[in-house]
Amino acid sequence: MEKLKFERPVINRINAGVPDKFGMATTVQPISHIDEVAVQDLLEQYGSPLYVLSEKTIRDTYKEAYSAFKTRYPKVQFAWSYKTNYLNAVCKVYHQEGSWAEVVSGFEFEKALANGVPGSKIIFNGPDKSKEDLERAIELGALIHIDHYDELYEIMEIAPKIGKTAKVAIRVNMDTGIYPHWDRFGFNYENGDAWTAVNKIMPDPNMELVGLHTHIGTYIMTPSAYGIATAKLAALAVRIDQKYKHNIKYIDMGGGFASKNTLKGAYLPGSDTCPSFDDFAEAITGALINSDIQYDHTPTLFLETGRALIDDAGYLLGTVLANKRLLDGRRSLIIDIGVNNLFTSFWYEHHIVPARIKQFDAEDTTIYGPLCMNIDIIRAAIQFPVLEKGDQVVIKRIGAYNMTQWMQFITYRPKVVIIDIQGNSHIIRENENHETMNALDRIPEHLDNIQL
Ligand SMILES: *Cc1c(COP(=O)(O)O)cnc(C)c1O
Repeated sequence: MEKLKFERPVINRINAGVPDKFGMATTVQPISHIDEVAVQDLLEQYGSPLYVLSEKTIRDTYKEAYSAFKTRYPKVQFAWSYKTNYLNAVCKVYHQEGSWAEVVSGFEFEKALANGVPGSKIIFNGPDKSKEDLERAIELGALIHIDHYDELYEIMEIAPKIGKTAKVAIRVNMDTGIYPHWDRFGFNYENGDAWTAVNKIMPDPNMELVGLHTHIGTYIMTPSAYGIATAKLAALAVRIDQKYKHNIKYIDMGGGFASKNTLKGAYLPGSDTCPSFDDFAEAITGALINSDIQYDHTPTLFLETGRALIDDAGYLLGTVLANKRLLDGRRSLIIDIGVNNLFTSFWYEHHIVPARIKQFDAEDTTIYGPLCMNIDIIRAAIQFPVLEKGDQVVIKRIGAYNMTQWMQFITYRPKVVIIDIQGNSHIIRENENHETMNALDRIPEHLDNIQL
C-alpha cells in the first residue's frame, strides 16, 4: 500500500468568508480542456507555465461586438488596440476579421505596418509621437489623433515640408458623469480647449480634420457614460459644420468596455455585472442617431475596444510547486505563475481553478507565485481544493494586457500558443532562453575578465 502523506494537524479558525448576493460558491468547476484540447497535453507539449489563446473565442467575441454595433448603425469600423495584445498572430486574426489598427507609439505603428495594415488604416493615438513618427504618419496617410497643443504645432510645422495634407482628429476628454474623469489625454470639451484646437486646425491648409476621438477610461461598467460622451462629440461635429461647413468623416469612441473579470473588492462577480456589447452599442448608436448631425453626413463610428474583445480568449496554465502552512494555519499554494506573467492580478480577482479535481474539500487558501518577492500573490484568499505538487491549474480571462505588460524577471517568459478553429495548437511566441535574454547585453572590455 502506498504510504499516506503526513500533514501536521492544525487548528483553523472557521472563516465564513464574505458571501456575495448568491452565497458562497460551494463547488469548484475544474477546467480540463480548452477548445477540446487537454490542458495536460498542452503543458506536456509546450512546458509550464503556458499562455493559451483560443482563436475561436477571439473570432466569436469580435463577431458578437461587431454585430451589436452594425445592427444598430450603418457605418461601423473597429480598430484593434495593439497595446492590449500585440502578438502578431493575434493582430492578424483581428485584421482578418476586418479590424484596422489602433496604435499608441512608433513601435506599434511599425508593428501594424509589418502586419500588412496600410498606413491609411492605422489610427495613431497617444501623447508620445516623435517628429519622425509624425512625418511617417503624414507620409502614409495615417489618422493622427492629436493629444495636445505641442503635437498640433509640430504637425503645423512639418506637414507643409512633406507636401501632403495631414489627416488629423483631436482626442477630446469630457465629463461623462463617471469617476475618474480622464483629463490627462486630449483636449477638454467643457473648458473650450477642444473647440480652440478645432479652430486652430480648420484654417490650416496642411491639415484635414477627419474625425473626433475620445477614450473615456478603461473597465467602464456604465454604458450611459458612453451615451453622454457620444452626444458631446456629436455636438462638436455639428458646431464644426455650422461654422466651417465641414463634415467630419468619423466619430471614434475609443475602447474601455469592461471585461467579465472581477475587480478586487467587487461585491458581485464581473461575469454578472459586465454590461453586454448590446448595452454599450445601444448607448453609443442611440446618441449618434438622435444627434443633430445631418443624415446625409452620417459619420462612421470607430471603436477601439481592447480588453472586452480578448480577455475571455486567454488562459494561463501552470503547475503547483508546493503546499505550505502559513503561521496562522492558512493553507498556501505556490504555483509557477508569478505576477510578472499575470500583471492584471494587481487589480483582478482572477478566476483560477484546478485542471483536475481529486478531492472536493475546499479550504481557505492563499495562492502565491514563484518569485522571491512578497508581492507575488496570485489570489490573497480563495476557497480552493487541496492540490499537490505537480497538479495543474488554469487561470481564465487573461487575454488582455498580460502579453504586453508582462515583465521578464528572474526567469524566462514562457511560450504562447493559439488553438485554431480546428483544435490544432500553434506556437505564436517562443519562450525566452539564455541566448535571447543575453542578446542585448554588452560587456565593456575592462569588465570582461574576472578571476575568482
Ligand atoms: C488602451 C486604449 C484602448 C483600448 O482600451 P480597452 O480598455 O482595452 O478597451 C483604446 N483606445 C485608446 C486610445 C487606448 O489608449
